[in-house]
Amino acid sequence: MQTRIEREKQTIQDMIALYCRKHHNSSSLCPECLDLLKYAHQRLNKCPYQNGKTTCAKCLVHCYHPQRRNKIKIIMRSSGPRMLFYHPVAAIRYLFDKRRREPITPLNKK
Ligand SMILES: [Zn+2]
Repeated sequence: MQTRIEREKQTIQDMIALYCRKHHNSSSLCPECLDLLKYAHQRLNKCPYQNGKTTCAKCLVHCYHPQRRNKIKIIMRSSGPRMLFYHPVAAIRYLFDKRRREPITPLNKK
């Protein structure tokens, strides 16, 4: 069983890959998208909510740098609907996770 964070990492990777293929004509991730993916994974690693988290779009903690945040929003808007077609299981899980309104109490609160 994948953890919530692992799942989110996979979803973001799929979304960026779809976007890159469509907009940058790249079969693998172009350097720009690879950089954004690394950044997104890094943010998830540091997410204080971990497995209790809602989706990043709804999270109360805006941990992304505004510039990155803007970019990821554009990618999600573009790849979101396409996810249902290419990765239906991930997309449905994502919709389900999104229904969780509040993040659950942080697990590793310091
Ligand atoms: Zn790209």
